[in-house]
Parts: sequence; C-alpha cells; structure tokens
Amino acid sequence: MRALQYREIGAAPELVEIDTPEPGPGEVRLRITAAGACHSDSFLMSLTAEQYGYGLPLTLGHEGAGVVDAVGTSVTGVAIGDSVAVYGPQGCGRCYHCAQGKENYCERAAELGIAPPGLGAPGAMAEYLIVPDARFLLPLGDLDPVQNVALTDAGLTPYHAIKMSLPKLVPGSTAVVIGAGGLGHVAIQILRAITPATVIALDVGEEKLALAKEVGAHEAFASDASAAEKIRGVAPQGVQAVFDFVAIQPTLDLGHAVVAVEGDHVVVGVGAGAVPAGILAAPYDSTVRAPYWGSRSELFEVFELARKGLVKVETEVFSLDDAPEAYRKLHDGELRGRAVVVP
Ligand code: NAD
Ligand code: ZN
Ligand code: ZN
Repeated sequence: MRALQYREIGAAPELVEIDTPEPGPGEVRLRITAAGACHSDSFLMSLTAEQYGYGLPLTLGHEGAGVVDAVGTSVTGVAIGDSVAVYGPQGCGRCYHCAQGKENYCERAAELGIAPPGLGAPGAMAEYLIVPDARFLLPLGDLDPVQNVALTDAGLTPYHAIKMSLPKLVPGSTAVVIGAGGLGHVAIQILRAITPATVIALDVGEEKLALAKEVGAHEAFASDASAAEKIRGVAPQGVQAVFDFVAIQPTLDLGHAVVAVEGDHVVVGVGAGAVPAGILAAPYDSTVRAPYWGSRSELFEVFELARKGLVKVETEVFSLDDAPEAYRKLHDGELRGRAVVVP
C-alpha cells in the first residue's frame, strides 16, 4: 500500500510503498477514507534527533477515518463496510482514567508502549490502518468522512478544552481564541454552540481573521501589541477564558494580560513558553490549564454537534500524492481550516 512517512530527521515526509498490514487478534483494519494534517505533525518534524521520540520511519496521520475492511479473530461490535472515525489518544482501557473514557490521560500508555496512530504507531496517511481495538472506532453513519475526520482532533481537542471551562463561560462572559487555524476555527464554533460567551479571535493573517468572523467570532483582532487593549475594550474586567492554540511567549503574555480574576488560561498549542503564577503575578484565583486531546465520550459529543450542523470544519482536500504539499501549506500558514488527505 502507499503511505506518507516521515523517514529522516529534518527531511520532508515521503510517499512510499509498504506492505499492507494484516489485522492480528482483536485488531481491525480500515481502508482509509480521510486523514487530517495537524500542526503537531509539523511540530514533531521540527524536532532534533535528540528531542524526537516517535520512531522512524513514522507513517503520519493522527486524524483518521475509514471503512472496516478486515477484522482479526475475536473482534466484535463492528462489521465489514462500517464507516468509522478513529479515537486517537488510545490508552490501556483499564486504569482509572481509561475507566472514565479519558484514555487521553491513560496512566499506563507509555509503560505499555501504546501510542496514538501517527504519533508513535503507524498513522492514517496511508491506504490502510490497523486499529488495536474496536472501542477506538466511532460510527460515522451519514457523516461524510472527508468533512468530519478532523473532528477527531481539531474538534475533540478544543471541545475538551472548552468543556472543562464551561462553568466560567456564563452569560456576560468573554472567551478569547488565539490562532484561528485548524483547531481554532472549530473552537470558535464550539464556543458559539455550547456557551453564551462573547467570542474574540486573534490571528496574524487577514484571511484567518476573516474566517474567524465567518465561523462565528463576534470580534477578530490582529494578534499584535495592541490586541490586549482591544480585548479590554470589549471586556474591561478581563476575559473568563483564553484558549491559546499557538502558545509561544508573545501569545502566552497576551493571554496573561487579559485573563480575568477566576479566569482560565488554557494552553493548547505546543509552542514553548512560560506563564507567571502566584497572587502577585496573576489575577486572583486564575488558573492555567494544559489540556491534551479529549475523552472517548467527548468525541461522541463532538460528532453530535456536527450532526446538528453546529460545527463544520473548513477543509482543503489533497490526494496522498499531494500530501507533502498539504504539510508545506500547513507549515507556511497558507491553509484555510484543515488539510484533509484522501488516499
Ligand atoms: P494551525 O497551523 O492550523 O493553526 C495555527 C494558527 O495560529 C494559524 O491560523 C496561524 O496563522 C495562527 N498563528 C500563528 N502565530 C500566531 C500568533 N502569534 N498569534 C495568533 N495566531 C497565530 O495549527 P493547528 O493544527 O490548529 O494546531 C494548533 C496548535 O495546537 C499547535 O501548536 C498544535 O501542535 C497544538 N495541538 C495541541 C493539541 C493538544 O492536545 N494540546 C492537540 C492538537 C494540536
Ligand atoms: Zn493533532
Ligand atoms: Zn489506561
């Protein structure tokens, strides 16, 4: 089969021909219908040999959807031909967090060598994908896989981040979304769908600011030195939640400058930086959170938002041959919404 692999530190990903995998006991093989490209893929391909820990070669793609194509022995609950989406942050299924469906916070995944597809295990940017257990498959039903595959991360991650801040997003509250890219443009829609908050988006690109407004942001400001003042113009007492999908020092400083007393400063992006803490350095009772991906049950909820038409991912579609170009555009900030690869 054909697969898009990261093969050499610092090199661009390459399309290669590899053996089509066979499902072992308990495993499910999908024929991939769609796979999304995430900034985290760009991030891991930017790491040095010392920092990189995902194995080489690595088939990319941690957002995947497919059709059940073959099953190993003792697999129940799925049928050949089912259209499904893959829950990526897979855990052991048995620890305290997994028991709550929070496999993203599995206590034993590292120790057991369990890694998400495309982030250690072979990913979805290929013609076929092996999924270790049928519980990681969510039925898509009538939802179009290409339109909705990105919900498995670009939907689920902001949904989890926002849901944990819901008690603060009451009528009269304000939320800030920094970075209206793949995750951010979905975050804006989720905020509009499940909270009454006023939503302010920040980005560096004019087109991204226009997209933010199109998908429901009440205000969209350039992410520069004047942004804090503009946000204070809308929310003089500060904002109840900042969702930072960039998380470099300037955006962290900006979030810190506008978060309100008892507000949440939610750091989702993987850019390196620091946020001051303590009653002399931050608003009273403000909280800094670092959420990772989301739970299995939350992914069901995200798909329900899509079914109700409340969340729609802006997608740019690429063939597997053009997947390296999708990553180039992602890296250079040229995408509108999410790049989705259709093998
Ligand atoms: P993306 O490239 O699609 O979007 C990033 C957006 O940020 C772009 O629109 C870009 O123009 C904008 N941006 C860049 N610099 C900015 C600045 N200084 N101020 C404001 N906006 C700026 O990326 P994505 O796929 O949406 O991922 C966003 C981040 O979230 C990445 O760091 C990714 O690694 C991370 N991520 C984290 C998790 C998690 O579980 N915590 C999950 C998925 C992705
Ligand atoms: Zn991701
Ligand atoms: Zn676990």
